[in-house]
Amino acid sequence: APARAATGLIGAGVLGRYPRRGADSTKFASGHVLVAGGSRGLTGAPCLAALGAMRAGAGYVTACVPASLNAIVEIKLTEVMSAPLPDEDGAHTPAGAQEVLDRIAQRGGVVVLGPGMGRGDGPAAFARRIATQATAALVLDADGLNALAGRLQDLAGREAPTVLTPHAGELGRLLETSASEVGARRLEHAREAARRARAIVVLKGDDTIVAEPEGRVGVSPGDSPGLATAGTGDVLSGVVAALLARGMEPFEAACAAVHAHAEAGRRAAAALGGPDGVIASDVVEHLARTLV
Ligand code: AMP
Ligand code: MG
Repeated sequence: APARAATGLIGAGVLGRYPRRGADSTKFASGHVLVAGGSRGLTGAPCLAALGAMRAGAGYVTACVPASLNAIVEIKLTEVMSAPLPDEDGAHTPAGAQEVLDRIAQRGGVVVLGPGMGRGDGPAAFARRIATQATAALVLDADGLNALAGRLQDLAGREAPTVLTPHAGELGRLLETSASEVGARRLEHAREAARRARAIVVLKGDDTIVAEPEGRVGVSPGDSPGLATAGTGDVLSGVVAALLARGMEPFEAACAAVHAHAEAGRRAAAALGGPDGVIASDVVEHLARTLV
């Protein structure tokens, strides 16, 4: 069983811990994030993850999407590079995994795997290959998590840090139980998944729990209903990756990302007069100020 360890509110503890660009900094010093995801009808998710990473200070970001979607991503994202990967019906294929692995070998980086990837067999095999073979730190979200349903132990052998960012439904699939079971005992399920995968688990919801295998737990009290809209989870995955790429320790990076993301949601709601009209792009716009 995991050691009993401190369970703390995520709050003031993360402030002032964010990496800063020094006067002599370069884009290489601020780290590289690769976002591998996207499928026909789901191009927004990898774009939001890429923008979240840029606004959280990544030096440069590469979006790895199926080739037929590449032009869309190029048009949506000015500052982000793109890598068109093998494409089958607008989705990733296992062959594309090798290209991602080669890029990591050449340039390093932190991988966000899953936003908008879709649930076919091709993308699932793509995700499993990257998740098990990449030597880079990994943030696994959305359909990247679904590709590992019932196989959390496959992640346990990874050498580099792994952060999983499920909501209750995704965590239920990972642990082969239901979202309502997860919802009834959120802390217990987050810790169990962290232990099985030997990974940091960010269990999202109105409150968010960050659990690590050694037993530390952080809890974000939420209070940011502006986040309850499509695409905000994708933004979070990019923020986590950027903080990892900038050298934060993984548990701290996850807690800091959750904290900044919730604060960005509050600021977006304040700027717009309430939470209801907030969209994920507004959260992106308000991120930078929350990370100082
Ligand atoms: P996803 O479930 O992947 O769409 O991600 C949604 C994001 O918004 C996660 O970071 C959640 O923690 C956050 N979120 C959703 N609803 C709320 C809420 N009512 N209050 C605070 N955060 C929320
Ligand atoms: Mg999501």
